[in-house]
Amino acid sequence: MAKGFDSLKKQITETADKLATSGNKVRKKMTGVPAHKHCRMCQTTIPMKADPAICKAEACVAKWAKEEKSRKSLKMWMTIFIGFFAFAFIGPIVQKFVF
Ligand SMILES: [Zn+2]
Repeated sequence: MAKGFDSLKKQITETADKLATSGNKVRKKMTGVPAHKHCRMCQTTIPMKADPAICKAEACVAKWAKEEKSRKSLKMWMTIFIGFFAFAFIGPIVQKFVF
């Protein structure tokens, strides 16, 4: 019984290995390109390590900076809003305990 289970386990492992290797082969054949990212602005390919994910084109850098600015102000407003919201909820509770 145990022996049969072991051989079955071995067979499953072998099949899984075979599937994994063939899968890798297929993937390599299909793309053939190393890992890369795309510029968030113009979709050109850029290296994986590029941070922020934009290319070096001036137009993209300028556009990114503009978006980054609006992202930052949005974040700030969100923080203020959440802070206010939290205060509106916690404030009365704190007041109850303090006074
Ligand atoms: Zn770009």
